[in-house]
Amino acid sequence: MESIGVLMICPMNSYLEQELDKRFKLFRYWNIPQTQQFLKENSNSIRAVVGNSMAGADAQLIESLPKLEIVSSFSVGLDKIDLNKCKEKGIRVTNTPDVLTEDVADLAIGLMLAVLRRLCECDRYVRKGLWKTGDFKLTTKFTGKSVGIIGLGRIGTAIAKRAEAFDCPISYYSRSEKADTNYKYYPSVIDLASNCQILVVACSLTPETRHIINREVIDALGPKGVLINIGRGPHVDEAELVSALVEGRLGGAGLDVFENEPEAPEELFGLDNVVLLPHVGSGTIETRTAMADLVLGNLEAHFLNKPLLTPVV
Ligand code: NAP
Repeated sequence: MESIGVLMICPMNSYLEQELDKRFKLFRYWNIPQTQQFLKENSNSIRAVVGNSMAGADAQLIESLPKLEIVSSFSVGLDKIDLNKCKEKGIRVTNTPDVLTEDVADLAIGLMLAVLRRLCECDRYVRKGLWKTGDFKLTTKFTGKSVGIIGLGRIGTAIAKRAEAFDCPISYYSRSEKADTNYKYYPSVIDLASNCQILVVACSLTPETRHIINREVIDALGPKGVLINIGRGPHVDEAELVSALVEGRLGGAGLDVFENEPEAPEELFGLDNVVLLPHVGSGTIETRTAMADLVLGNLEAHFLNKPLLTPVV
């Protein structure tokens, strides 16, 4: 397989990069100064693209690679891949579901605890030597808070399971009511937000779910409500979120993802009711290795004419 050209779009994982380099003819797109020239010279040898949650394969890239057979994403989210274009051209698509579910769900619970119990502010309090000046202020209990989940998929369900262990009543919104759960279903995001204390975004990013968290939803969650976003940045109208937090119309937020990563809104940096993470939902050594193995396994299966491990298209 050493002669098969694989285009890696951006740096994502050194183990994956090394293994791709060993097995295929690897092109590192981010290192290429003249991409147009590069594509002109190499497009006929590239049969696979490897992307992630930051960059994948848009229509323009797909069109410029006439021999492209497969897009293998180092992510479960598919929002950076033009799926319609792939379908139209018969290009296979794979992602990395399941292996990252537990980590992302763990992190969502971590964000809930961090926001309500002010863990980051507590840490700063100790480091700044403020403990000597007096006890830390009282915070808010997490156990028993009602948790509303947008998108009861793999990650949403894993978050619900964890929150249940904290005696949190669970409700959810998705496009259809699930038959296999007793969690309360709300057919609208506004109703869900009005009836929970912690609202979690865990759905996939599509044109329909872009800005699913808007001013109306934020107002429904209210000044005591907490928003947790472990989905994608564009799920949230970030300007509305910032003004609600700055004006005290929302109780707090735990955010792993942002609209313009790696930018995060500086207006939030001084707020202690907000916890900001640099998109690390799946960022453990174990999980990223498992994700890399899935990318490699899918590529090898494809080029050996075997069934794909985790096919999307
Ligand atoms: P999944 O199992 O496919 O779940 C996605 C959920 O989104 C489904 O339950 C689906 O429910 C819901 N959904 C889709 N369109 C919707 C709509 N228009 N309105 C409401 N709900 C909708 O995917 P997953 O493995 O749980 O991953 C979910 C997302 O998490 C990924 O797409 C990715 O963006 C994000 N993620 C983030 C990180 C991170 O590092 N922060 C890591 C991994 C994944 P219905 O079909 O019932 O509507």
